[in-house]
Amino acid sequence: MGYSLSFKHKEWDDDEDQVLAWVQSDPESGAATVCLNTDWPKHVPRTAKALESTAMHEMAEVLLCQVRELLLPYYSDKLINTHIHKVIRPLENLLFPVA
Ligand SMILES: [Zn+2]
Repeated sequence: MGYSLSFKHKEWDDDEDQVLAWVQSDPESGAATVCLNTDWPKHVPRTAKALESTAMHEMAEVLLCQVRELLLPYYSDKLINTHIHKVIRPLENLLFPVA
């Protein structure tokens, strides 16, 4: 079963770890929301490529959110996040190589 998908422009509330976008998912309602930060982080270049690679990254996160939720009773969110990004980062680097 898939997730319904929506998009929000939202403020990121962690000053130490700035991100351009993130995914919030709720297994109970089957909803996933891709959030785009209202404040573009200084370390992210303001380019179409940065936006496209971020969009691909967040869509991969949506595709893997059911895997994340299946693993959450057994492993920490941090460990799951690390391994999910071991899948996403190589795809991101392959599709959007650093020039
Ligand atoms: Zn990510």
